[in-house]
Amino acid sequence: MGGIETCKYLKSLPEISNVPIIFITSSHENEDTCWDVGGVDFIQKPFTKKTVFNRVKTHLTIKLQRDKLTNLVFLDSLTGVFNRRYFDTHIEKVDLNAKRMNEDYALIFIDIDFFKQFNDIYGHLEGDKALKIVAQTIQKTLKRPRDVVIRFGGEEFVIVLPSTDLKGSILVTEDVIKNISALNIPHRGSNFKHLTVSAGIATLRGLKGETEILKVADDKLYISKQLGRNRLSY
Ligand code: GH3
Ligand code: MG
Ligand code: MG
Repeated sequence: MGGIETCKYLKSLPEISNVPIIFITSSHENEDTCWDVGGVDFIQKPFTKKTVFNRVKTHLTIKLQRDKLTNLVFLDSLTGVFNRRYFDTHIEKVDLNAKRMNEDYALIFIDIDFFKQFNDIYGHLEGDKALKIVAQTIQKTLKRPRDVVIRFGGEEFVIVLPSTDLKGSILVTEDVIKNISALNIPHRGSNFKHLTVSAGIATLRGLKGETEILKVADDKLYISKQLGRNRLSY
């Protein structure tokens, strides 16, 4: 592959598409194409070591600052997982991509059971700690790099699983419920005597798009609550 093709390919991979790419070129003709395919800079041959060193250093500094800013804007400060602001742009991209590729994707609503009582019994500080552990446990349960968990609201989380059908998303949700239950966080106010979550699953198949999926997943969560909690519905 030539440099232009390589750059195009790297930019098409969601996991690394924002890694800055600097071209090293020998001719002026290539310059415009380098910019067009997403290069952040280029170095002309023949080059000196110092130029390469400083160009790379400059772009690493910019990247680091951008990543820090992105984290501030898109991560939830309590739990360290993505926040609602991230969700809004993320879900649009996942939805568009799924439709373009003619693939399914799943959205799962997770809500902690009897969490008001948990706060009332153990205090808000313990509540905050529990929220953090639950968020991290969900995060650890997700295995693919493109799977994300978002703190949607107070004690509610949303999981988005691209390229995943109903069957796959049920398996993931079962793991999430099991792993949180296995933490064995004592909860006197719960029917289960330890902290549990309920879940509602929806996938794109048969639905119009992200707004409807969100609504259906929320409705399914409500059913899980009605049926006694500590379970999933789809
Ligand atoms: P259900 O089983 O039906 O979900 O009952 P619930 O008590 O969990 O539901 P409800 O929506 O009535 O209560 C949510 C509670 O979550 C309210 C609040 O006490 C708690 N909560 C929301 N955000 C936070 C937070 O950031 N920190 C702490 N400690 N608690 C929070
Ligand atoms: Mg709730
Ligand atoms: Mg709740």
